[in-house]
Amino acid sequence: MLNAENNMSSTTPKMPTTDPNITPMMRQFLDIKADHQDFLLFYRMGDFYELFFDDAIVAAAALDITLTHRGKHLGENIPMCGVPFHAAESYLHRLIRQGHKVAICEQTEDPAEAKKRGSKSVVRREVVRLVTAGTLTEEGLLEARANNYLAAFGQTRHEESPALAWVDISTGDVQIFAGKFDAIQGRLAALMPRELLLPDSLPPEKQRLLTESCGDVVATELTASQANSESGHAALVEAYHVSTLDGFGNWSRSMYAAGGALINYLTLTQLGKLPNLKPPRLMSADDRMRIDVATCQNLEILQNKTGEKKGSLFAAIDKTVTGPGARMLSQRLAAPLAQKDAIEGRLDAISFYAGHDAETTKTRETKRSILKNAPDMARALGRMSLERCGPRDLAAVRDGLMQGFELAATALPDITPCPPQIESVLAAIAPIQKPLKDLCDHLAKALADELPVLTRDGGFIAMGYHPGLDEARRLRDESRRVIAGLQNSYREDTGIKALKVKHNAVLGYHIDVPAAHGDRLMTAPYADTFFHRQTLANSVRFSTTELAELAGQISRAGEKATGLEQEIFSTLCGEVLAQAEAVSRAAEALAELDVALALAELACDMNWVRPEIYDDHRFFVEAGRHPVVEASLSGQGDSPFIANDCHIHADDKQGNTGRLLLLTGPNMAGKSTYLRQNALIAVLAQSGCYVPATKAEIGIVDRLFSRVGAADDLARGQSTFMVEMVETAAILNQAGPASMVILDEIGRGTSTFDGLSIAWATIEHMHEMNKCRTMFATHYHELTGLSEKLDKVTNITMRVAEYQGDVVFLHEVVAGAADRSYGIHVAKLAGLPAPVIDRARILLDQLEQSREQAVPEGVLESLPLFAPTQSVEQVQVSKTDSPAEKLSREIAELDPDSLSPKQALDFIYRLRNILDDV
Ligand code: ATP
Repeated sequence: MLNAENNMSSTTPKMPTTDPNITPMMRQFLDIKADHQDFLLFYRMGDFYELFFDDAIVAAAALDITLTHRGKHLGENIPMCGVPFHAAESYLHRLIRQGHKVAICEQTEDPAEAKKRGSKSVVRREVVRLVTAGTLTEEGLLEARANNYLAAFGQTRHEESPALAWVDISTGDVQIFAGKFDAIQGRLAALMPRELLLPDSLPPEKQRLLTESCGDVVATELTASQANSESGHAALVEAYHVSTLDGFGNWSRSMYAAGGALINYLTLTQLGKLPNLKPPRLMSADDRMRIDVATCQNLEILQNKTGEKKGSLFAAIDKTVTGPGARMLSQRLAAPLAQKDAIEGRLDAISFYAGHDAETTKTRETKRSILKNAPDMARALGRMSLERCGPRDLAAVRDGLMQGFELAATALPDITPCPPQIESVLAAIAPIQKPLKDLCDHLAKALADELPVLTRDGGFIAMGYHPGLDEARRLRDESRRVIAGLQNSYREDTGIKALKVKHNAVLGYHIDVPAAHGDRLMTAPYADTFFHRQTLANSVRFSTTELAELAGQISRAGEKATGLEQEIFSTLCGEVLAQAEAVSRAAEALAELDVALALAELACDMNWVRPEIYDDHRFFVEAGRHPVVEASLSGQGDSPFIANDCHIHADDKQGNTGRLLLLTGPNMAGKSTYLRQNALIAVLAQSGCYVPATKAEIGIVDRLFSRVGAADDLARGQSTFMVEMVETAAILNQAGPASMVILDEIGRGTSTFDGLSIAWATIEHMHEMNKCRTMFATHYHELTGLSEKLDKVTNITMRVAEYQGDVVFLHEVVAGAADRSYGIHVAKLAGLPAPVIDRARILLDQLEQSREQAVPEGVLESLPLFAPTQSVEQVQVSKTDSPAEKLSREIAELDPDSLSPKQALDFIYRLRNILDDV
């Protein structure tokens, strides 16, 4: 969680201040600041945004800019820092990234107007915008290829299930989900919102759990009035201009609370202007594959463990060519579907473009190159709806629509019937949609070729579009030309070759001559024509009636042109907004097309296949690969990735086959990779993507769990083992027959026998109670005996070969069980010193011998189910030999001729230790 709080004692005085000498401007600042306590106040003064008191101290440190002071308050200097207005965006960006919120306070009247009220009066200022991490719309503040979500948690006292609502205000996408608390945590982990709204009545422990699920997030507390179900319902009804919300689906009261909290917060931060919100999409827990927080992080679906995209599943498969396409793909991976029809729909769209033949390849190429030129219409529309747009946003809509029409026109040869998904995409961008075509043509006619970022810079309306504008521009430009001509005629008249006509903000147009010629122009005959304006060290400045008149004409014509351009701009924005729904659908269609083409391209490039989706519990993969490991191996030019099968059949068809795969094998052999690749194949298949395999039959997974590797959570005061057990508990308590679980090395964080018993009991519980598809990797080879007692347990192992005393990992999964872990070989590969390796070998031999004698043959087979404690105790008891037995065994096994002097000495010590232990 981001924490941008300032723990210093406050320097900002509370209003009303007791300082009798306070200036009117500082009084105004403090009044405005009093209403925006949680925000850094950017207070506009001329060309700068200034910050004062605590805000200045915090911002100067955060931005690494100079902290100065201005004036005094109660005898103390007032801390101040400032950022130039024209570069404010980059400073804002840095402050928001660090978790701050900013209130932008602008001058809302002309200083000349303020002066009319008296020389000491202050220019009126108002906060025009509140900038927070979850409510950004500016291109420069957003990542083009990632969503920027604001999420709100809602819960009512009467209902068991809380709800989560989220919106990306830059595109207007709103979604609401109701489910159990842990399901909401899972959604947050996948969404990674930038800002999370929490009711202040939510207990701190729950607030902590929710914010921690998100990673880096700014948490904002809302009062009960902003986050209850009644006010939420009212806010939603008003925002969507409907009398009832039933048309959107089935709402719970918590959903009203969460959805309404979003709307109330947007109304607050956007100062009453709501963005163009799409109809809310309501989701139930059954629509999607549920992935909890730990699984989402373990599988590195959208981010790697350090929070970067690099190394994630998303980074490995993203071949989209537009920002909206990338965002849509990441949304799909974050929330895989759980309904066959919906998944098949997405797969159909990919299949349509996934042919290897020359014609389909060419079509893909053409469409993707057109898409590359399609700008981000959704975000342009978002800015337009908040009146925060510029001429380039209009151009984005024009170009987006144009590319859409072109895409719809480059039809694919009729090799297969067009799937409904593609049909609806093409319909949304078809030029036969008269209103959209007209809008696009109109924008094309109205906009100039070169466009400024800001409307106030002018010049963005094309010549010939508006006769009045053309005339004003002609007058302005002609007068400029006449002025340029004046320079020559004044030079000729006065004989001063260095005379120049110049322009600046203070004097406007004026005549500038070197100081030596100044006196001449102030005497007859020139004094009648040239009026003195200013004397500088090196030059003297004049004006003439003619020049003043022309300057007046230029300024009047310029003002007229700017005013007309503003008017035209507003009209054009109005026209776009009138078609907002169709434009937004076209934008979505382009993103869908981008995703389908990108996944088709990936499938062809990497030889991925369309998964077959079933409503049963099979998980049958032939020659599956891990997309991320495979990509990294091929990038390094290493040996190729070895594909592996996974055979879990649907119970009804295949009868007595394993659904719990117990995977043993050496360290570094590829066990974790195998487990993860299968989990990722499930995620990919249900996200509607092709999968890295030659064949895949996937029975829909309702919940995916993974417990992989060990991680301390020291910040939360949890040890490696505690984290491991909490995650295992969640799985055992929640997994059902349609779930899929991957468990890697559970029980490794404690003593061997504790760990073995926990792993053992866990397998039994999953086999008998959860009955889910499970892949369980372990170094406890003892567990492989369970396959003889539990009919759904199948042993599989990683094949290795030994070559000249070294182990070679073949990364191949085969039926059977491993008999050893080759840990010492891996330690050798890792560069442990040779004496340590030698010593470890001796110890291992001895330990193995003692274990062989200690565990009586057939112990495992004789154990009853659900009796792990008893069985392990049995193992422990039988392991305890008497000292006499130990001594005689040690001596009997000794080969005196092969001992080095050092080994002999070690041996004597060992004998002595046995006696010491008695
Ligand atoms: P440990 O028991 O020590 O955790 P492990 O058996 O889980 O090891 P992994 O971490 O999965 O082993 O894999 C080790 C390395 O082997 C990977 O980083 C990868 O480079 C390589 N590897 C794994 N699987 C394959 C494969 N199928 N084909 C090629 N290389 C592979």
